[in-house]
Amino acid sequence: MGYVKVAYRNIFRQLDYHSSMPKGWNEFVEKQLKFQNLIIKSSKGKCYCTNCNHSFFSNKKVNEEVKCPNCHNKYLIKRSNLKYYEFKDYLSILDYINDTFVIRYFELRTIIDSLREHHSSIVEFAREIPNSKYNREVFVNETVSKCQCHIHISHSGFYDEKIWRKYTRNYSIIDYSIVFPDNIKKLLKDTEFKYSRIWDIAKHSRYIDLLKLLENKADINKMELLSKMKLYNLALRADEFREKGSFQEIFGVSKDYYQFMKRYNITYKQLKLLRLLKEKDFSKIKYLENFINYGERTEDLEEISNYISLTRFIKYAKMHHKHVKTYIYKDYLRFAKLLGFDLKNTRYAFPKNLREEHDKLEKQYKIQSEEIINKAILRRGKELDMNKYQNSKFIILPAHTLKALQDESKQQRNCVRTYAERYAKGECDIYFMRDIKKPKESLVTVEVKDNRVVQSRIKYNNSPNEQQLEFLQDWEQNVLRKVA
Ligand SMILES: [Zn+2]
Repeated sequence: MGYVKVAYRNIFRQLDYHSSMPKGWNEFVEKQLKFQNLIIKSSKGKCYCTNCNHSFFSNKKVNEEVKCPNCHNKYLIKRSNLKYYEFKDYLSILDYINDTFVIRYFELRTIIDSLREHHSSIVEFAREIPNSKYNREVFVNETVSKCQCHIHISHSGFYDEKIWRKYTRNYSIIDYSIVFPDNIKKLLKDTEFKYSRIWDIAKHSRYIDLLKLLENKADINKMELLSKMKLYNLALRADEFREKGSFQEIFGVSKDYYQFMKRYNITYKQLKLLRLLKEKDFSKIKYLENFINYGERTEDLEEISNYISLTRFIKYAKMHHKHVKTYIYKDYLRFAKLLGFDLKNTRYAFPKNLREEHDKLEKQYKIQSEEIINKAILRRGKELDMNKYQNSKFIILPAHTLKALQDESKQQRNCVRTYAERYAKGECDIYFMRDIKKPKESLVTVEVKDNRVVQSRIKYNNSPNEQQLEFLQDWEQNVLRKVA
């Protein structure tokens, strides 16, 4: 159990026994509860809204969302034989006690049972104190328990909500929450955040990391600017933007897009997609979001957009019901381009079996590129033959084939293989120095640039011995430099 220092214990006690929730909190919770509803679908498309009890017809399928024509809210459709459904949302509120900010976290839960009865409850389970240190300072009460590998928050009322301990596990228990916005402006009035407009950001974005905003003192100006532009979701990522410059320089798209960005309150991820799509079409952007697997990594789509337009990519993905692996597709397109296929032609741009076609092109490309490289190496080897040199102990000669280079790197266990392309292009010269009695066995691999030895390596990338180095020096002086 983590210890709670006295100052914090006093704060928590005041919160538990002497403070009340601000005006508007109950309405705020009620509003969030509205989201915790379903559309129940029975036979022949008959639908029932658990929010307003209205019945209507729809052809939408189970697990899709549909808008209730009566209350106009959008809910998930579930089958009428549903036994149990649970909603959980995390709400938070900022408080200020004894010159200290505290963020209080609540779990709002609704269970819908087989009789379609709602059972809703809210319980406070965590508190956090901004400290501008790397580790977050989070405290939890007795409602929090760990069962198997996940955190469970009890709503039963059997556990004491007023007994606090420090949360010491290294994974976070809470960071994103729906923040109560109405008291923030007042609380930040006399702080450096007074112009930050965090209250506006909280009002217009669901699920944000309030602590992160409160600790980001470096970007207050940018938060203010982005909020004033009504780009609230981008204000959450103020650190990604520069403060000065033209619209294009700040956002990476032209000013023509501003109204569009504002209307949809676009997120940073969506902005990155807009830069690639260059089209004011929000449904396309939403669709493309399905292809970003890790955080905001848009690199695959970026590469794809170098070969075909993302609108065409969407068309292809829809043909395959979203089952397109972008990391395979981008490779496929690269090979196709390198091999000279016309990607304007749908036959090449939209392979039926992506994996199969990818492997085929990869093979083709490998064979072709190896042929090209090998030819160039043969030519270079012949050119460099004039630099062959030997004494009574050693001999040095250029690499003549790709295979010889691969052999050398295998024997030496170094990475000369990767030099093959550069060698073929004439960007560097590769020589093999060998014992004259064992000319097939690799000894020293030598890289030459501008008639100077720039690297000489023996096995495992070690340096040659003195005798070997002396030979190389002689060679450099008597052969390489003389030619030059
Ligand atoms: Zn309704």
